[in-house]
Amino acid sequence: MSAVTVSVAALLGAAAGVLVPRTAYRLGVVAGTPARAGCEHCGRPFRAGPGGWLGPATCRGCRARLGPPTTFTVTVAGLAYGLLALRFGADPVLPALLAAVAIGLPLACVDLARLRLPDPLIAALALATAAGLALAAAGTGTAVPLWRAGAAAIVCAGAYLLLALLPGSRLGFGDVKLAAVLGLPLGWLGWPAVLTGLLLPHLLIGPVALVLLLTRRAGRRTALPLGPAMLAGALAAFLLHPR
Ligand SMILES: [Zn+2]
Repeated sequence: MSAVTVSVAALLGAAAGVLVPRTAYRLGVVAGTPARAGCEHCGRPFRAGPGGWLGPATCRGCRARLGPPTTFTVTVAGLAYGLLALRFGADPVLPALLAAVAIGLPLACVDLARLRLPDPLIAALALATAAGLALAAAGTGTAVPLWRAGAAAIVCAGAYLLLALLPGSRLGFGDVKLAAVLGLPLGWLGWPAVLTGLLLPHLLIGPVALVLLLTRRAGRRTALPLGPAMLAGALAAFLLHPR
């Protein structure tokens, strides 16, 4: 993969990152309440249609920052896109993985802000990933990885469901649904990727919780969102297990 292609992918990721904060802001509400229809500072409503959902963090009316900082989403998406292009090159699965990052990022931001994974975003992630993998299957001419993707989704959902049902578990059903969806691309890449994707989030969240405890930014009872760790773990598994 040439340096030009990787740079183009990184720029594409940065552009996708610009569009993330508005969605994260609108869906970053307490469970059971409707998505935000406008800026909570000046009341300026968002436009109807996709234009009202995709956009940077700043309100056009009062210039207040809405949602996660755009610099953060642009950096993460740009880096992820560049690294995925570098690792996967012309592999037909690349568009599915890029789509997963584009939708996974607002999902992670909402979970960080509100400790929840909204169903519409999980559904969008599932649809985009499944469509991308179906196209990749058409491109490679074999359906075997697609079947493995489906099987892995069931395995991941089962593993997280067991964890969620354990007494004292802090796992929510949003985490179970996310595990099922992330099982699709992980399964496409093979069972080693599935294993990495299942284990890494728990290895990641341990040290993060410890740092937060030591710096007194979290107490022993503070609930930590698992979604961002699951998404970061899946991304790391993609990068560690290209086919
Ligand atoms: Zn405003």
